[in-house]
Amino acid sequence: MTEHVVVLGAGFGGLELVTGISEAIPDKVRITLIDKSGAFMFGFSKLDVMFGRRQASEVWNAYRGIDKPGVEFRQETVTAIDPKSRRVVTDVATYDADILVVALGADYDVAATPGLAEDGVEFYSFAGAELARDALAAFKGGGVVVGVLGPFFKCPGAPVETALLVDNYLAQRGLRESSTIHLVNPMPAPIPISQRTSSALVAILEEHGIEYWPGSKVARLDPEHHVAHVDDGRELPYDLFLGIPVHCAPEVVVASELAEDGWIPVDPATFATKFPNVYAIGDVTSAPVPRAGGIAEGEAATVAKVLIAKLTNDSDPVPYDGVAGCYVELGDDLVGRIDVNFLSYDTPVAKFTAPSAALSEEKHEWESTRVRRWFGPITS
Ligand SMILES: Cc1cc2nc3c(=O)[nH]c(=O)nc-3n(C[C@H](O)[C@H](O)[C@H](O)COP(=O)(O)OP(=O)(O)OC[C@H]3O[C@@H](n4cnc5c(N)ncnc54)[C@H](O)[C@@H]3O)c2cc1C
Repeated sequence: MTEHVVVLGAGFGGLELVTGISEAIPDKVRITLIDKSGAFMFGFSKLDVMFGRRQASEVWNAYRGIDKPGVEFRQETVTAIDPKSRRVVTDVATYDADILVVALGADYDVAATPGLAEDGVEFYSFAGAELARDALAAFKGGGVVVGVLGPFFKCPGAPVETALLVDNYLAQRGLRESSTIHLVNPMPAPIPISQRTSSALVAILEEHGIEYWPGSKVARLDPEHHVAHVDDGRELPYDLFLGIPVHCAPEVVVASELAEDGWIPVDPATFATKFPNVYAIGDVTSAPVPRAGGIAEGEAATVAKVLIAKLTNDSDPVPYDGVAGCYVELGDDLVGRIDVNFLSYDTPVAKFTAPSAALSEEKHEWESTRVRRWFGPITS
């Protein structure tokens, strides 16, 4: 008899999970993978679109390309989740799962920052990245502010990356001399768990003449005067405001019994929720790790092992280790790398490898490997 595994969300977490279990135990599971979108894109591809390095058509991977034993993809919007009965309702159908995995990621609350919708551009959604691309193309020089608007956000390295890519973009267009760039981030350091990595990144920002305001949050924008009001009372005029919006869990999750304080609590070793046979992975959880694709992928691989062990009556799987790698773009095709371990006992680790063209190549390969693994046929 096969178990019906229903996976909500086909992002980093959902795709890795489905691949892992389909590869290992195709005869034991029937997997329904549900996403409201028809295609997947890597988070960092939004930066490629925003800085005009790739066309929109080059960054989407269509789910219809998924070719895995026992996996059926359904393009539907999840409208209700009952974790007690493991029943999921979508705009099209109702699903009863033996095992339910929630991997619905994080949404954005643009309205939480007054003035952002009117006078700034959030670049964390695909539509926002396209608007940011157009705003950058129309920019004639002046003040650019990159502002992180909430206490936590996807990809801790992304604000530094964005500021450096703005620097590179403006230099290429001959506008750097006539522009200033400010990076305002509520986090006390670029990568708070490592002083050395943070110092290395701050030094790179300084080399590029980027004004860095750590521990500060833009509370609101004044659309009439184009001024960002910082929560410590400072004011920052801008000609272009690029914002990382406040994050929140998708509405359907918040409305379910799964959410506590807005996110899904999980056992950080296995990603089990408090409901039997219901798991949650990735950005939608309140696990004590940052929101990042590499992290969601590691969590998904852990849940795959948990489910494989459960369905094959095998020994207990190894708990999640909190290890992930993350690339940082610096422009001019230079990429650095941060290797983290958030659960390394008492002392989380983040090691920075200086930028190089070789790491840029490595990042491209990292991306293609995932596209092949998640969208191609099972090869093992
Ligand atoms: C600009 C930017 C740069 C980034 N750079 C990096 C990087 O370099 N490295 C890195 O590791 N991470 C990076 N990230 C972060 C990374 O993209 C996310 O952390 C990662 O995608 C989280 O994976 P997930 O599976 O939890 O959620 P997601 O990948 O967001 O997947 C969630 C899925 O759920 C679907 N969904 C949501 N609600 C519903 C619903 N009601 N019904 C049906 N489907 C629904 C969505 O369509 C989506 O496909 C970046 C993010 C951004 C925005």
